[in-house]
Amino acid sequence: QAGIKARLLEINKEAAKYYYFQLKSARGQAAVDYLTKRQLSEETIKKFGLGYSNQTGDDIYRYLKHIGYEDDILRESGLISFDERHKVYDKFWNRVMFPIMDTNNRVIGFGGRVMGDGLPKYLNSPETKLFDKSRNLYGLNFARTSRKPNFLICEGYMDVIALHQAGFTNAVASLGTAFTGLQANLIKRYTTEVLLTYDSDEAGTKAALRAIPILKEAGLTVKVINMKPYKDPDEFIKALGAEEFQKRIDGARNSFLFEVEVMENDYDMNDPEQKTKFFNEIAKKMLQFTEEIERNIYIEAVSKKYETGFENLRKLVNSYGARL
Ligand code: ATP
Ligand code: MN
Ligand code: MN
Ligand code: MN
Repeated sequence: QAGIKARLLEINKEAAKYYYFQLKSARGQAAVDYLTKRQLSEETIKKFGLGYSNQTGDDIYRYLKHIGYEDDILRESGLISFDERHKVYDKFWNRVMFPIMDTNNRVIGFGGRVMGDGLPKYLNSPETKLFDKSRNLYGLNFARTSRKPNFLICEGYMDVIALHQAGFTNAVASLGTAFTGLQANLIKRYTTEVLLTYDSDEAGTKAALRAIPILKEAGLTVKVINMKPYKDPDEFIKALGAEEFQKRIDGARNSFLFEVEVMENDYDMNDPEQKTKFFNEIAKKMLQFTEEIERNIYIEAVSKKYETGFENLRKLVNSYGARL
């Protein structure tokens, strides 16, 4: 088993090098143009080892065969598909390639993006003996030594890369899957606070709401960064630059108050019945605060904002669980 993993690491490394060097060839010019259009510097492209998978359809297969790897191990790499008639396809072709590295800078998988509007926008390596999406984070190999007081968690490859290029070397992303407890524990090894910088659309908001309890469960302090009116950190930084982004970091909001604000949208606050339901939901959520002073601070913040008395809300919270 260890032997297989070592060989898969070798294959990934060879593939990453191959993809990277395609950028220097005539065939890779469109990818270079694409990355330039996305305002990535040569230094950034090199740091993240970005590359290009050729159009041919069996290009990486033939290269890996040529340097000595057999079908059996290539099958395990996730880079190649074999159909019933043993026809071979590269999983990634005509895409910009993002090698995914573990904390030891070893390539364990890839993401690939179409260069235009084609679908799917991103393809990711399947799970392999090396690549377990639920226990890795894109960018963690760099973020772990960033010496910043916290981590930024964003949605995607381009966000991480744009943030690092702008100096925010503490950015990581969760590889297009829901955030997991394993990932939260991984982060906990390096920091105590995370700032969520998910997309400002509905999908991003939902992803943030799902991630918050998981991160808190791991013992992390969670705050949320407002990306509006831009869609994601990449677009924000392109439009307003790093200094403005730093201001958003400094103004990151408490995650509970963020959750309350999002919940508010589900209720018609002009309708007494709906407003009552809203307060009941909030009250239940307040039970997570098991220290009296902390709970009271949240009760005060919410009761002020939505104009209900402190005592009213406190009683409601107590009605749902242990009185503090
Ligand atoms: P770009 O990354 O080019 O800026 P975007 O911001 O619109 O495009 P999103 O749709 O927000 O990209 O996707 C964010 C992340 O989610 C991607 O980096 C990728 O990791 C993941 N993702 C998006 N689409 C897919 C998909 N079809 N399959 C798997 N993962 C995906
Ligand atoms: Mn998104
Ligand atoms: Mn984007
Ligand atoms: Mn996005």
